[in-house]
Amino acid sequence: MHHEANKCIGCSVTQCSHHCGSENYCSLNKIQVGTHESDPSMDQCTDCKSFDKK
Ligand code: SF4
Repeated sequence: MHHEANKCIGCSVTQCSHHCGSENYCSLNKIQVGTHESDPSMDQCTDCKSFDKK
């Protein structure tokens, strides 16, 4: 698999099909971040909505 790292988007979720592989970066030009909480209060409340399981 060959994915070019986007150095503007650091990511360590290697289970995602958009992860660049060799380094901890996303390969997309743009991602969507959202939340599953009604009133987010910490980083755990946010999600990458562009995640796609490998
Ligand atoms: S789409 Fe989101 S979860 Fe997937 S590699 Fe990019 S930043 Fe990480």
